[in-house]
Amino acid sequence: METALPKSILLVEDNDTHAHLVERQLRKSAGSYSLCRATTLAEALKHLANVDVDAVLLDLSLPDSAIQETLQQVLDHHATVPVIVLTSLNDLDFANQAVKQGAQDFLVKGELSANLLERSIRYAIERKNSQRKLQQYAASLEASNRNLESFAHTLAHEVRSPLSVVSGCLQLIQADRSDSDDVETDQMIRDSLAAIRGISDLVNRLLNFAQATSANGDYRMISLECVLHEVLPVIQPTLDDVGGQLICGALPEVYADEVQLRHLLQNLLSNAIKYRRPGTALRINVDCQTHETEWLLRVADNGMGIDHENHDRIFAAFARVQSDSDIAGVGIGLAFCKRIVDNHSGRIWVESQLGAGSTFIVSLPKPPLDPHTNPDH
Ligand code: ADP
Repeated sequence: METALPKSILLVEDNDTHAHLVERQLRKSAGSYSLCRATTLAEALKHLANVDVDAVLLDLSLPDSAIQETLQQVLDHHATVPVIVLTSLNDLDFANQAVKQGAQDFLVKGELSANLLERSIRYAIERKNSQRKLQQYAASLEASNRNLESFAHTLAHEVRSPLSVVSGCLQLIQADRSDSDDVETDQMIRDSLAAIRGISDLVNRLLNFAQATSANGDYRMISLECVLHEVLPVIQPTLDDVGGQLICGALPEVYADEVQLRHLLQNLLSNAIKYRRPGTALRINVDCQTHETEWLLRVADNGMGIDHENHDRIFAAFARVQSDSDIAGVGIGLAFCKRIVDNHSGRIWVESQLGAGSTFIVSLPKPPLDPHTNPDH
Protein backbone atom coordinates (compact mmCIF):
# COMPACT_ATOMS: atom_id res chain seq x y z
CA MET A 1 0.00 0.00 0.00
CA GLU A 2 1.24 3.49 -0.86
CA THR A 3 2.07 5.56 2.24
CA ALA A 4 1.19 9.27 2.22
CA LEU A 5 4.14 11.66 2.24
CA PRO A 6 4.48 13.71 5.44
CA LYS A 7 2.80 17.09 5.16
CA SER A 8 5.33 19.87 4.95
CA ILE A 9 4.50 22.56 7.53
CA LEU A 10 6.19 25.91 7.97
CA LEU A 11 5.97 27.31 11.48
CA VAL A 12 6.58 31.07 11.56
CA GLU A 13 7.21 31.92 15.21
CA ASP A 14 9.96 34.02 16.80
CA ASN A 15 9.28 32.90 20.37
CA ASP A 16 11.17 29.65 21.24
CA THR A 17 8.77 28.55 24.00
CA HIS A 18 5.74 28.92 21.72
CA ALA A 19 7.53 27.18 18.90
CA HIS A 20 8.40 24.19 21.12
CA LEU A 21 4.80 23.99 22.27
CA VAL A 22 3.57 23.71 18.68
CA GLU A 23 6.31 21.22 17.78
CA ARG A 24 5.40 19.02 20.75
CA GLN A 25 1.69 18.96 19.91
CA LEU A 26 2.42 18.29 16.27
CA ARG A 27 4.67 15.30 17.21
CA LYS A 28 1.89 13.92 19.42
CA SER A 29 -0.77 14.25 16.69
CA ALA A 30 -1.91 11.38 14.47
CA GLY A 31 -0.75 13.02 11.23
CA SER A 32 2.68 12.76 9.73
CA TYR A 33 4.44 16.12 9.38
CA SER A 34 7.81 17.52 8.46
CA LEU A 35 8.19 20.83 10.26
CA CYS A 36 10.44 23.76 9.34
CA ARG A 37 10.65 26.95 11.34
CA ALA A 38 11.17 30.59 10.39
CA THR A 39 11.62 33.29 13.02
CA THR A 40 11.09 36.35 10.80
CA LEU A 41 8.76 37.26 7.94
CA ALA A 42 11.69 37.62 5.54
CA GLU A 43 12.87 34.12 6.42
CA ALA A 44 9.35 32.74 5.96
CA LEU A 45 8.88 34.38 2.54
CA LYS A 46 12.26 33.06 1.41
CA HIS A 47 11.37 29.55 2.55
CA LEU A 48 7.99 29.68 0.79
CA ALA A 49 9.68 30.83 -2.41
CA ASN A 50 12.02 27.84 -2.40
CA VAL A 51 10.10 24.97 -0.81
CA ASP A 52 6.69 23.46 -1.54
CA VAL A 53 4.79 23.92 1.71
CA ASP A 54 1.43 22.27 2.51
CA ALA A 55 0.43 24.72 5.26
CA VAL A 56 1.79 27.65 7.26
CA LEU A 57 1.29 28.15 11.00
CA LEU A 58 1.73 31.89 11.32
CA ASP A 59 2.35 34.03 14.37
CA LEU A 60 1.40 37.57 13.32
CA SER A 61 3.72 39.43 15.62
CA LEU A 62 7.23 39.09 14.18
CA PRO A 63 10.39 41.15 14.67
CA ASP A 64 10.30 42.44 11.07
CA SER A 65 6.54 42.80 10.57
CA ALA A 66 3.63 44.54 12.28
CA ILE A 67 0.70 42.39 13.47
CA GLN A 68 -1.75 43.89 11.01
CA GLU A 69 0.56 43.38 8.00
CA THR A 70 2.04 39.90 8.44
CA LEU A 71 -0.84 37.85 7.05
CA GLN A 72 -1.33 40.13 4.05
CA GLN A 73 2.37 39.97 3.25
CA VAL A 74 2.31 36.16 3.23
CA LEU A 75 -0.88 36.02 1.12
CA ASP A 76 0.38 38.67 -1.31
CA HIS A 77 3.47 36.60 -2.02
CA HIS A 78 1.96 33.10 -1.74
CA ALA A 79 -1.78 33.25 -2.33
CA THR A 80 -2.19 29.49 -2.77
CA VAL A 81 -0.73 28.25 0.51
CA PRO A 82 -3.18 27.57 3.38
CA VAL A 83 -2.39 29.78 6.38
CA ILE A 84 -3.45 29.09 9.98
CA VAL A 85 -2.99 32.11 12.24
CA LEU A 86 -1.53 31.51 15.72
CA THR A 87 -2.39 34.08 18.32
CA SER A 88 -2.33 34.55 22.06
CA LEU A 89 -5.68 36.37 21.93
CA ASN A 90 -8.93 34.49 22.27
CA ASP A 91 -10.67 37.19 20.29
CA LEU A 92 -13.45 36.25 17.85
CA ASP A 93 -13.39 39.60 16.05
CA PHE A 94 -9.72 39.18 15.45
CA ALA A 95 -10.28 35.61 14.20
CA ASN A 96 -13.05 36.70 11.85
CA GLN A 97 -10.91 39.44 10.46
CA ALA A 98 -8.02 37.04 9.82
CA VAL A 99 -10.33 34.56 8.08
CA LYS A 100 -11.93 37.35 6.03
CA GLN A 101 -8.47 38.46 5.01
CA GLY A 102 -7.73 34.97 3.68
CA ALA A 103 -6.48 32.82 6.58
CA GLN A 104 -7.97 29.33 6.66
CA ASP A 105 -8.20 29.10 10.45
CA PHE A 106 -7.22 30.67 13.73
CA LEU A 107 -5.69 28.88 16.77
CA VAL A 108 -5.10 30.26 20.27
CA LYS A 109 -1.60 29.27 21.41
CA GLY A 110 -2.56 28.61 25.04
CA GLU A 111 -5.33 26.23 23.95
CA LEU A 112 -3.41 24.09 21.49
CA SER A 113 -3.86 20.34 21.59
CA ALA A 114 -2.51 17.69 19.24
CA ASN A 115 -6.01 16.88 17.98
CA LEU A 116 -6.97 20.47 17.42
CA LEU A 117 -3.78 21.22 15.55
CA GLU A 118 -4.05 18.12 13.40
CA ARG A 119 -7.69 18.80 12.51
CA SER A 120 -7.06 22.45 11.77
CA ILE A 121 -4.16 21.65 9.42
CA ARG A 122 -6.11 18.90 7.65
CA TYR A 123 -9.19 21.10 7.06
CA ALA A 124 -7.09 24.09 6.07
CA ILE A 125 -5.40 22.03 3.35
CA GLU A 126 -8.69 20.53 2.14
CA ARG A 127 -10.49 23.87 2.11
CA LYS A 128 -7.67 25.54 0.24
CA ASN A 129 -7.68 22.71 -2.32
CA SER A 130 -11.42 23.16 -2.86
CA GLN A 131 -10.96 26.92 -3.22
CA ARG A 132 -8.22 26.32 -5.76
CA LYS A 133 -10.43 23.95 -7.76
CA LEU A 134 -13.28 26.46 -7.64
CA GLN A 135 -10.98 29.24 -8.85
CA GLN A 136 -9.72 27.03 -11.69
CA TYR A 137 -13.30 26.18 -12.61
CA ALA A 138 -14.29 29.87 -12.57
CA ALA A 139 -11.29 30.73 -14.76
CA SER A 140 -12.11 28.00 -17.28
CA LEU A 141 -15.77 29.09 -17.30
CA GLU A 142 -14.71 32.66 -17.98
CA ALA A 143 -12.43 31.48 -20.80
CA SER A 144 -15.20 29.39 -22.32
CA ASN A 145 -17.61 32.37 -22.09
CA ARG A 146 -15.05 34.51 -23.89
CA ASN A 147 -14.72 31.83 -26.59
CA LEU A 148 -18.47 31.63 -26.96
CA GLU A 149 -18.70 35.40 -27.27
CA SER A 150 -16.07 35.53 -29.99
CA PHE A 151 -17.72 32.56 -31.72
CA ALA A 152 -21.04 34.47 -31.67
CA HIS A 153 -19.29 37.52 -33.17
CA THR A 154 -17.77 35.51 -35.99
CA LEU A 155 -21.01 33.70 -36.67
CA ALA A 156 -23.00 36.94 -36.65
CA HIS A 157 -20.56 38.46 -39.12
CA GLU A 158 -20.64 35.37 -41.37
CA VAL A 159 -24.44 35.32 -41.40
CA ARG A 160 -24.98 39.07 -41.74
CA SER A 161 -22.81 39.53 -44.85
CA PRO A 162 -24.61 37.04 -47.13
CA LEU A 163 -27.96 38.21 -45.72
CA SER A 164 -27.30 41.79 -46.68
CA VAL A 165 -26.20 40.66 -50.17
CA VAL A 166 -29.40 38.64 -50.66
CA SER A 167 -31.55 41.41 -49.25
CA GLY A 168 -29.82 44.01 -51.49
CA CYS A 169 -30.39 41.84 -54.59
CA LEU A 170 -34.04 41.28 -53.71
CA GLN A 171 -34.56 45.03 -53.27
CA LEU A 172 -33.00 45.68 -56.71
CA ILE A 173 -35.25 43.06 -58.28
CA GLN A 174 -38.20 44.62 -56.46
CA ALA A 175 -37.33 48.07 -57.85
CA ASP A 176 -36.89 46.68 -61.42
CA ARG A 177 -40.26 45.07 -61.23
CA SER A 178 -42.15 48.16 -60.09
CA ASP A 179 -44.30 48.03 -63.26
CA SER A 180 -44.96 44.30 -63.09
CA ASP A 181 -48.46 43.01 -62.55
CA ASP A 182 -47.22 39.59 -61.35
CA VAL A 183 -48.75 39.91 -57.86
CA GLU A 184 -47.67 36.47 -56.73
CA THR A 185 -43.96 37.03 -57.42
CA ASP A 186 -44.10 40.48 -55.77
CA GLN A 187 -45.58 38.88 -52.67
CA MET A 188 -42.82 36.22 -52.66
CA ILE A 189 -40.16 38.94 -52.77
CA ARG A 190 -41.85 40.81 -49.89
CA ASP A 191 -42.06 37.59 -47.84
CA SER A 192 -38.39 36.84 -48.53
CA LEU A 193 -37.36 40.34 -47.41
CA ALA A 194 -39.45 39.97 -44.24
CA ALA A 195 -37.84 36.59 -43.55
CA ILE A 196 -34.37 38.13 -43.96
CA ARG A 197 -35.32 40.93 -41.53
CA GLY A 198 -36.45 38.22 -39.08
CA ILE A 199 -33.11 36.37 -39.34
CA SER A 200 -31.16 39.65 -38.91
CA ASP A 201 -33.21 40.44 -35.84
CA LEU A 202 -32.54 36.96 -34.43
CA VAL A 203 -28.79 37.28 -35.10
CA ASN A 204 -28.74 40.67 -33.33
CA ARG A 205 -30.64 39.29 -30.35
CA LEU A 206 -28.39 36.23 -30.08
CA LEU A 207 -25.34 38.44 -30.29
CA ASN A 208 -26.65 40.72 -27.52
CA PHE A 209 -27.44 37.61 -25.48
CA ALA A 210 -23.89 36.23 -25.91
CA GLN A 211 -22.34 39.60 -25.09
CA ALA A 212 -24.32 40.11 -21.90
CA THR A 213 -21.77 38.85 -19.40
CA SER A 214 -21.13 40.53 -16.07
CA ALA A 215 -17.51 41.11 -17.10
CA ASN A 216 -18.67 43.41 -19.92
CA GLY A 217 -20.64 45.70 -17.63
CA ASP A 218 -20.01 49.22 -16.37
CA TYR A 219 -21.84 49.07 -13.05
CA ARG A 220 -22.65 52.38 -11.32
CA MET A 221 -25.58 54.47 -10.06
CA ILE A 222 -27.75 55.42 -13.03
CA SER A 223 -31.13 57.05 -13.42
CA LEU A 224 -33.82 54.52 -14.28
CA GLU A 225 -35.93 57.38 -15.60
CA CYS A 226 -33.21 58.32 -18.13
CA VAL A 227 -32.89 54.70 -19.21
CA LEU A 228 -36.64 54.52 -19.78
CA HIS A 229 -36.50 57.70 -21.86
CA GLU A 230 -33.85 56.13 -24.06
CA VAL A 231 -36.07 53.10 -24.62
CA LEU A 232 -39.23 55.06 -25.38
CA PRO A 233 -38.38 56.07 -28.98
CA VAL A 234 -37.98 52.37 -29.80
CA ILE A 235 -41.27 51.17 -28.35
CA GLN A 236 -43.49 54.28 -28.61
CA PRO A 237 -44.38 53.83 -32.33
CA THR A 238 -45.64 50.27 -31.72
CA LEU A 239 -47.40 51.39 -28.55
CA ASP A 240 -49.14 54.17 -30.53
CA ASP A 241 -50.03 51.72 -33.32
CA VAL A 242 -51.96 49.54 -30.89
CA GLY A 243 -53.39 52.51 -28.95
CA GLY A 244 -51.62 51.45 -25.75
CA GLN A 245 -50.88 53.59 -22.70
CA LEU A 246 -47.68 53.58 -20.61
CA ILE A 247 -47.92 54.87 -17.04
CA CYS A 248 -44.76 55.42 -15.00
CA GLY A 249 -44.30 55.98 -11.30
CA ALA A 250 -41.30 57.85 -9.89
CA LEU A 251 -38.18 56.00 -10.98
CA PRO A 252 -35.10 56.18 -8.70
CA GLU A 253 -31.42 55.81 -9.44
CA VAL A 254 -30.29 52.19 -9.34
CA TYR A 255 -26.93 50.45 -9.40
CA ALA A 256 -26.68 48.85 -12.83
CA ASP A 257 -25.03 48.68 -16.21
CA GLU A 258 -26.88 51.17 -18.42
CA VAL A 259 -26.71 49.25 -21.69
CA GLN A 260 -27.96 46.02 -20.13
CA LEU A 261 -30.72 47.81 -18.23
CA ARG A 262 -31.90 49.39 -21.48
CA HIS A 263 -32.10 45.93 -23.11
CA LEU A 264 -33.98 44.63 -20.07
CA LEU A 265 -36.62 47.37 -20.14
CA GLN A 266 -36.95 47.21 -23.90
CA ASN A 267 -37.58 43.46 -23.84
CA LEU A 268 -40.12 43.64 -21.02
CA LEU A 269 -42.00 46.55 -22.62
CA SER A 270 -41.97 44.99 -26.11
CA ASN A 271 -43.38 41.78 -24.64
CA ALA A 272 -46.10 43.70 -22.81
CA ILE A 273 -47.14 45.16 -26.16
CA LYS A 274 -46.73 41.90 -28.09
CA TYR A 275 -48.72 39.77 -25.67
CA ARG A 276 -51.61 42.25 -25.21
CA ARG A 277 -55.16 40.96 -24.94
CA PRO A 278 -57.21 41.40 -28.12
CA GLY A 279 -60.21 43.63 -27.49
CA THR A 280 -58.75 45.25 -24.35
CA ALA A 281 -57.08 48.68 -24.37
CA LEU A 282 -53.44 48.01 -23.46
CA ARG A 283 -52.18 49.57 -20.23
CA ILE A 284 -48.59 49.15 -19.01
CA ASN A 285 -47.45 50.33 -15.58
CA VAL A 286 -43.78 50.75 -14.72
CA ASP A 287 -42.68 51.52 -11.19
CA CYS A 288 -39.73 50.92 -8.92
CA GLN A 289 -39.76 50.65 -5.13
CA THR A 290 -36.67 51.33 -3.05
CA HIS A 291 -36.13 48.92 -0.15
CA GLU A 292 -33.36 48.62 2.39
CA THR A 293 -31.24 46.16 0.43
CA GLU A 294 -32.77 46.15 -3.06
CA TRP A 295 -34.78 47.97 -5.71
CA LEU A 296 -37.91 46.27 -7.04
CA LEU A 297 -38.63 47.26 -10.62
CA ARG A 298 -42.07 46.20 -11.85
CA VAL A 299 -43.41 46.12 -15.40
CA ALA A 300 -47.10 45.26 -15.28
CA ASP A 301 -49.51 44.81 -18.19
CA ASN A 302 -53.17 43.92 -18.60
CA GLY A 303 -52.38 41.51 -21.43
CA MET A 304 -53.10 37.85 -22.08
CA GLY A 305 -51.25 36.61 -18.97
CA ILE A 306 -49.33 33.38 -18.43
CA ASP A 307 -50.59 30.22 -16.76
CA HIS A 308 -48.87 29.21 -13.54
CA GLU A 309 -47.06 26.17 -14.90
CA ASN A 310 -45.12 28.35 -17.37
CA HIS A 311 -43.97 31.00 -14.89
CA ASP A 312 -40.43 29.56 -14.55
CA ARG A 313 -40.14 27.97 -17.98
CA ILE A 314 -40.46 31.24 -19.94
CA PHE A 315 -37.05 32.43 -18.65
CA ALA A 316 -35.22 29.55 -20.37
CA ALA A 317 -33.74 30.19 -23.83
CA PHE A 318 -36.09 29.36 -26.73
CA ALA A 319 -39.05 28.70 -24.42
CA ARG A 320 -42.30 30.05 -25.83
CA VAL A 321 -45.80 29.56 -24.55
CA GLN A 322 -47.69 30.54 -27.71
CA SER A 323 -45.24 28.77 -30.07
CA ASP A 324 -47.90 27.90 -32.62
CA SER A 325 -49.59 31.31 -32.57
CA ASP A 326 -49.19 34.19 -35.03
CA ILE A 327 -47.18 36.23 -32.54
CA ALA A 328 -43.62 36.46 -33.85
CA GLY A 329 -40.78 35.55 -31.54
CA VAL A 330 -38.05 33.03 -30.86
CA GLY A 331 -38.06 32.83 -27.08
CA ILE A 332 -34.77 34.58 -26.38
CA GLY A 333 -36.06 37.86 -24.86
CA LEU A 334 -36.74 36.69 -21.30
CA ALA A 335 -33.64 34.45 -21.25
CA PHE A 336 -31.71 37.60 -22.13
CA CYS A 337 -33.48 39.51 -19.34
CA LYS A 338 -32.63 36.72 -16.88
CA ARG A 339 -28.98 36.77 -17.91
CA ILE A 340 -28.85 40.55 -17.45
CA VAL A 341 -30.44 40.28 -14.01
CA ASP A 342 -28.04 37.45 -13.07
CA ASN A 343 -25.16 39.70 -14.09
CA HIS A 344 -26.46 42.21 -11.53
CA SER A 345 -26.77 39.45 -8.87
CA GLY A 346 -30.51 40.09 -8.92
CA ARG A 347 -33.66 38.05 -9.49
CA ILE A 348 -36.47 38.19 -12.03
CA TRP A 349 -39.83 36.50 -11.82
CA VAL A 350 -43.38 36.88 -13.06
CA GLU A 351 -46.69 37.10 -11.25
CA SER A 352 -49.50 36.36 -13.64
CA GLN A 353 -52.69 34.51 -14.39
CA LEU A 354 -53.91 33.45 -17.77
CA GLY A 355 -56.17 36.18 -19.15
CA ALA A 356 -55.44 38.56 -16.28
CA GLY A 357 -52.23 40.38 -17.24
CA SER A 358 -48.64 39.84 -16.10
CA THR A 359 -46.29 41.65 -13.76
CA PHE A 360 -42.58 41.09 -14.29
CA ILE A 361 -40.60 41.91 -11.16
CA VAL A 362 -36.87 42.56 -11.15
CA SER A 363 -34.98 42.72 -7.88
CA LEU A 364 -31.70 44.63 -8.16
CA PRO A 365 -29.56 44.40 -5.02
CA LYS A 366 -28.08 47.59 -3.62
CA PRO A 367 -24.27 47.60 -3.58
CA PRO A 368 -22.54 47.45 -0.18
CA LEU A 369 -22.04 50.93 1.27
CA ASP A 370 -18.58 52.36 0.88
CA PRO A 371 -17.49 53.61 4.34
CA HIS A 372 -15.22 56.20 2.68
CA THR A 373 -17.99 57.88 0.72
CA ASN A 374 -20.69 57.25 3.37
CA PRO A 375 -19.13 58.20 6.69
CA ASP A 376 -22.51 57.97 8.44
CA HIS A 377 -22.82 54.23 7.75
P1 ADP B 1 -40.55 35.61 -27.41
O1 ADP B 1 -41.37 36.82 -27.12
O2 ADP B 1 -39.60 35.80 -28.52
O3 ADP B 1 -41.37 34.35 -27.55
P2 ADP B 1 -39.53 35.80 -24.69
O4 ADP B 1 -38.40 35.06 -24.11
O5 ADP B 1 -39.52 37.27 -24.64
O6 ADP B 1 -39.60 35.29 -26.18
O7 ADP B 1 -40.85 35.29 -23.99
C1 ADP B 1 -41.03 33.90 -23.74
C2 ADP B 1 -42.51 33.60 -23.65
O8 ADP B 1 -43.03 34.20 -22.47
C3 ADP B 1 -43.30 34.18 -24.78
O9 ADP B 1 -43.35 33.28 -25.86
C4 ADP B 1 -44.66 34.40 -24.15
O10 ADP B 1 -45.37 33.19 -24.21
C5 ADP B 1 -44.36 34.64 -22.70
N1 ADP B 1 -44.45 36.08 -22.35
C6 ADP B 1 -43.42 36.94 -22.23
N2 ADP B 1 -43.84 38.17 -21.86
C7 ADP B 1 -45.18 38.09 -21.72
C8 ADP B 1 -46.23 38.99 -21.33
N3 ADP B 1 -45.95 40.26 -21.01
N4 ADP B 1 -47.49 38.53 -21.31
C9 ADP B 1 -47.76 37.24 -21.63
N5 ADP B 1 -46.85 36.34 -21.99
C10 ADP B 1 -45.58 36.74 -22.04
